Amino acid sequence: MFFKNKKIERKVLLEKTVLDSIVTFCKMKHPDEGILILKGKSKNGQIKIDGLAIPPFNFTGPTFAGFPHSFLPFDNSYIGIVHSHPSGSAEPSVTDLNNFFGLVSLIIKSPYDDDSIFAWDSGGNAIPLLINDEHETEKN
Ligand SMILES: [Zn+2]
Repeated sequence: MFFKNKKIERKVLLEKTVLDSIVTFCKMKHPDEGILILKGKSKNGQIKIDGLAIPPFNFTGPTFAGFPHSFLPFDNSYIGIVHSHPSGSAEPSVTDLNNFFGLVSLIIKSPYDDDSIFAWDSGGNAIPLLINDEHETEKN
């Protein structure tokens, strides 16, 4: 018997419609940070994001965004958070990593376009991010 050395390829699939909502929300919040909960599912290392939720009691300012995790309703479709960095890089800060929630953290930086968004794990390592814009495959 051979043991397959199966390496799990991690990646994040983000629906284009969700990305558009993130972009709109963060532009509206600018110059403050915006924060949203990511909804979706994870399977074999693939994280699929297909929805958003507004966190309860969220607080934001120019250099921070957060919410008390203890107020979060239990929902196993909540798989991470996205927040904006109105200035600077899209890399997670120490505070971001200390407040990591779920499986993935997306950070979008100004000017909030399709190339401004990045995915990170709880260790601050980048995860490949793919935008899913294949609506023409939907038949009927
Ligand atoms: Zn941050």
